[in-house]
Amino acid sequence: MSILIENLSKTFDSKIVLNHINLEIQTGYLVALLGPSGSGKSTLLRIIAGFEKPNKGSIWLSGKKSTHIKIQDRKLGFVFQDYALFPHLNVFENIAFGMSIRKTPFEIIKQRVQQLLQLIQLESQSKKYPFQLSGGQKQRVALARALAIEPEVLLLDEPFGALDVKVRKDLRLWLRKFHDEIPVTTLFVTHDQQEAMEIANEIIIFEKGHIAQTGFAKELIEHPSTSFVKDFLDL
Ligand code: ADP
Ligand code: MG
Repeated sequence: MSILIENLSKTFDSKIVLNHINLEIQTGYLVALLGPSGSGKSTLLRIIAGFEKPNKGSIWLSGKKSTHIKIQDRKLGFVFQDYALFPHLNVFENIAFGMSIRKTPFEIIKQRVQQLLQLIQLESQSKKYPFQLSGGQKQRVALARALAIEPEVLLLDEPFGALDVKVRKDLRLWLRKFHDEIPVTTLFVTHDQQEAMEIANEIIIFEKGHIAQTGFAKELIEHPSTSFVKDFLDL
């Protein structure tokens, strides 16, 4: 599913958080939204998800205006840094949740959860509860839960932000490999330059509610368009 964002603006109280954003993300791309804290990245993701309304502008999902698509028909998967697993459900039940509420037959749920457990390399942990898992394992379960409904768009908001350096690195590689196998259109929010460079096909650099520059890692490094981009990328 492609995403087209047209002239999108958002204010909170009288503060401009997003200022005339225009952006196109092609089907199957893994794009990083990279920018300092407070630049509006999460707000943009929440608006795409339909959790928040823009003041101006529109979003088109594969050519359809998003306000014309019901939230339950949007087929979006999310993982947030603090998007906790359900503590009273085990790994299997957490992953199955979205399918259960859609009344998917249990045989199909079982099969799909099994596939996802394999994908996140946690086959033997399906009966464990979140408190028995490490941070990295929990985020892999959160990813599996997001993938369970076969989303057409994956929205990841600093999903590895709370984890330590080594685990983050492993999960980055894992996500990259996963995306090569199953290229779901993915928007990956991070404030970490290294993470964005390693993961994404394309990087969008955010500066205080507007896009400072868009490009492939190499282009950004070789031709930063403003002094903000140059400083932010530590060039
Ligand atoms: P980022 O994800 O890049 O750190 P955010 O989108 O979370 O940035 O926030 C951008 C700005 O919008 C910040 O100044 C933040 O305080 C403000 N903001 C975000 N959500 C709200 C809200 N619900 N009410 C008021 N201000 C908000
Ligand atoms: Mg944020």
